[in-house]
Amino acid sequence: MQGRATLVGNLCNGSPAADGVPALVAAGAIVTVTGPNGSREVAVADIPAGPGKTVLKKGELISAVTLPPRGKHGGDAYLRFIPRTEMDIAVVGCAVNLTLDGDRIATARVVLGAVAPTVILVPEAAKAIIGTTLDAAALDKLAAAASAAARPITDKRGTVEFRTEVAGVLARRAAKIAHDRAKGAGK
Ligand SMILES: Cc1cc2nc3c(=O)[nH]c(=O)nc-3n(C[C@H](O)[C@H](O)[C@H](O)COP(=O)(O)OP(=O)(O)OC[C@H]3O[C@@H](n4cnc5c(N)ncnc54)[C@H](O)[C@@H]3O)c2cc1C
Repeated sequence: MQGRATLVGNLCNGSPAADGVPALVAAGAIVTVTGPNGSREVAVADIPAGPGKTVLKKGELISAVTLPPRGKHGGDAYLRFIPRTEMDIAVVGCAVNLTLDGDRIATARVVLGAVAPTVILVPEAAKAIIGTTLDAAALDKLAAAASAAARPITDKRGTVEFRTEVAGVLARRAAKIAHDRAKGAGK
C-alpha cells in the first residue's frame, strides 16, 4: 500500500518520531482496524509497537480515524524540535490537548514523540496542569514531568540530556499554545 503523506501512513510507518501521531494520541483519536475477521476499534496510542512496528496483524489495515469532538473550550497544539526549518525528523515532539472549565484546565493529555520507542502519553504531566490556570508553578511541574517521562537515546540528532531538556521546554510551549487556543485564539 503506498499513499502520499497520509495520517495513517504516518502512524503505520511505526516511526517513534512521526509528527502526526502525538497530536492524534493527545486528541484521544481512535482508528478502525479492518481485516479478514472484521473490524475493531483501537486507540491510536495502542497501534505503535516499537520502531517500525505496529500491532496490526497480517491482512489488517486501518479503514477510519475517529476524532472525538474537541468541545467549545478545547484547544490543542503540537510542537517539534528539528535542527533545520523543514524536511527533517523530530528530535523531540510534544502534543498537548486540553479543555477549560472557566479559567481552569478541566482535562489535559500530554504526549511526547521521539523520546522513546513509541510515542508516550504522560499522565503526570497532565496532572500537573489540571485544575490550574496554567500559572508559572503549573508550567514548571508540567515541564519537569515531561522531562522525567522521556526515555530517549543519544544519536547523531541529539543526546539523552538534550532531548530530556527539550521535552520539558516543548511541553511548556505547547501547553501555552493549546491554552490560548482553548480560550479562543485563532477561532
Ligand atoms: C523526504 C521525507 C521527509 C519526511 N518528513 C517527515 C516529517 O517531517 N515528519 C514525519 O512525521 N514524517 C516524515 N517523513 C516520513 C513519511 O513521509 C511519513 O511517515 C508519511 O506520513 C507516510 O505517509 P504515507 O501516506 O506516505 O505512507 P506510506 O509510505 O504509503 O505508508 C507507510 C506505511 O504505512 C502503511 N500503511 C499506509 N496506509 C495504511 C493503512 N490504511 N492501513 C495500514 N497500513 C497502512 C504502509 O503499508 C507502509 O508500511 C518523511 C519522509 C520523507 C521521504
